[in-house]
Amino acid sequence: MRILLSNDDGVRAPGILAMAQAMSACGDVVVVAPETSQSAAAHGITLTAPLSVDRVHLDGDFPAYAVDGRPADCVKLAIRELMKKPPDLVISGINDGANTGINVLYSGTVAAAAEGAFYNFPAVAVSLLHTERMDFAGAAVLARDLIRQLLDTGLAGHSLVNINIPALEQGPPKGVRVVPQSMIPWEDYFERVPGPADRQAYWLKGDYLALKPEADTDFHAVMNGYVTITPLQFDLTHHEALRSLGEHQWVLPANPGSPPA
Ligand code: MN
Repeated sequence: MRILLSNDDGVRAPGILAMAQAMSACGDVVVVAPETSQSAAAHGITLTAPLSVDRVHLDGDFPAYAVDGRPADCVKLAIRELMKKPPDLVISGINDGANTGINVLYSGTVAAAAEGAFYNFPAVAVSLLHTERMDFAGAAVLARDLIRQLLDTGLAGHSLVNINIPALEQGPPKGVRVVPQSMIPWEDYFERVPGPADRQAYWLKGDYLALKPEADTDFHAVMNGYVTITPLQFDLTHHEALRSLGEHQWVLPANPGSPPA
């Protein structure tokens, strides 16, 4: 099995090394990841400059490509140029921090997996709840096991699965929950800080621990010690509204352009 592995924390992040080491038991792992941290880069791609690529070695021995771009750039470039043959599976992670709820839309980790799904490859995003002592190696073994099971279920192209792993320091997770995204809004705020040249600057802050997510959602389950599996789709169309707006009698102004001279 050929596995393309990317992330948004950057090629030198501990999570991607742990995942690379764990997944090499399943096949050939090709690591193509951003040169720098790209957390919250979402599905951005680079159009205004060429993408520079360096060959690097993770932890002294694991070969990887470091791309001066976004997570989605990495997956695109890997599939189009860097891999000799197309991957059988695209994995993104392990991210430092859960990607649940509306964070899924900000996440570069999820975007890298989604990019793989755009190309019709099965794709999995893996994130570990942020704590002081993060056990990426344990999380990688756990994720590998779940990914094997996902593949056994017949995970096909266009499939995008988001896995979140709770803190592992206090013992193994309570179980696996298949749950939808939480829709709870962020209670974020801006801290005013002095900016350069006496300009006012604002630093985005927020405390997710203060939030009370809805029961039976990804955020709630992972905060309560469960591994979560959330199948995602990238069709953002609101199908119910599509029907109701489609039934509306839309009227155009008779002459919207500027009058002829
Ligand atoms: Mn990240």
